[in-house]
Amino acid sequence: MHINIQRLWDDLSSTAQFGKVQETGLTRLTFDQSDKKIREWFTTTCRNLGGIVRTDRVGNQYARFFSLNDQQSTILVGSHLDTQPNGGRFDGILGVLAGIEVIRTFMDKQHTLKHAIEIINWTNEEGARFYPPMMGSAYACGHLDLNTVLQSKDKDGYLLRNVSEGFRSDSDVLTTIKPSCYLELHIEQGPVLEKEKINIGVVTSITGISWFSIRFFGKARHAGTTPLNYRNDAFIKAAKFTIEFQKYLIENSDNIIGTIGKIENIPNTPNTVPEETILYIDVRSANEEYLNNVASVIEKIIRLKLRVNDFEVKKISSISPTNFSSLLISTIDKSIQEIGLTGRHIVSGAGHDALQLAKQIPTGMIFVPCEDGISHNVNENILKEYAENGANSLLKTILNLDETIDEYYN
Ligand SMILES: [Zn+2]
Repeated sequence: MHINIQRLWDDLSSTAQFGKVQETGLTRLTFDQSDKKIREWFTTTCRNLGGIVRTDRVGNQYARFFSLNDQQSTILVGSHLDTQPNGGRFDGILGVLAGIEVIRTFMDKQHTLKHAIEIINWTNEEGARFYPPMMGSAYACGHLDLNTVLQSKDKDGYLLRNVSEGFRSDSDVLTTIKPSCYLELHIEQGPVLEKEKINIGVVTSITGISWFSIRFFGKARHAGTTPLNYRNDAFIKAAKFTIEFQKYLIENSDNIIGTIGKIENIPNTPNTVPEETILYIDVRSANEEYLNNVASVIEKIIRLKLRVNDFEVKKISSISPTNFSSLLISTIDKSIQEIGLTGRHIVSGAGHDALQLAKQIPTGMIFVPCEDGISHNVNENILKEYAENGANSLLKTILNLDETIDEYYN
């Protein structure tokens, strides 16, 4: 059984009119006019296929197929239809629209599943209009309270509660059904699959993220009158650290990735030796030990390689890694093999709704390549065959899970 790629591609093209910017991009922010249009499209399309469409208290949309009995155990398939400002046409959208195409394919072939399926559009995954990101899935999974969601304000002061009227309900859907597992198809948003010419990425985990700040101290002096050997230059220490930290990252690149993406230099004028330099570091790893170790690695580099003792390292924030279910990983592996596609295991460096679901039920993610790894940009693009391979992998994985997922619970 195969999906109809032209039908899926037509949906991707026609719905890209809702919020279209610069020919190939989209700005579809949560509960703006374009988001409301695609929500209506989702409802109409799924109803026309015989689905029962419901919303919950935060506007997540659920379209139920095959068994209308809520006590029937249910395979969840979802992603998001909102985008970044000047974002792409595939991030999130591919996962929801491919889910609908899979349902259509089952209907065409008159194939009935043992399980119910809910196709889900999660509210505000991007967090571009309202904070926090992954809002809808976090709420549905019990990781975020209702008030935080409804009271969330956009930059113009509009409350989510007010702009979402008519697109929410007074009940929760996820708590009234029996979800057995969650599947999400998504573009990789990085360059690995395309560079390695691999059809499918089977996601094993989503990296944890830690942010640090490091303050280096020096003495402000006149840039013209103070010879180099009489200086205590904070920026030079920060620069030396950057080189040494990069060496550590290269040596450990299988396990950790890091970026020094922000720097503050004080007083930041051309004719004064810097008295203080602050580096901001983003480190990501699927291995919690590596993340826990970063602060001491930073301190060792500064004390032993730079021979500097006057500094301050602070952890600003941290999110633990999420590991996906081995059952789902092996089922996706098997499914792509059965349909003759190549695959590799891959770690996601970006957050997804699947991260929230993985804390509750067996969860898996299927990645397809995207051109040059570009995402969150109007130039985000995929080939038709990437979408086709992804949707067929989703279909085959659902068929396999329909046979095996109950064993997990018995
Ligand atoms: Zn996304």
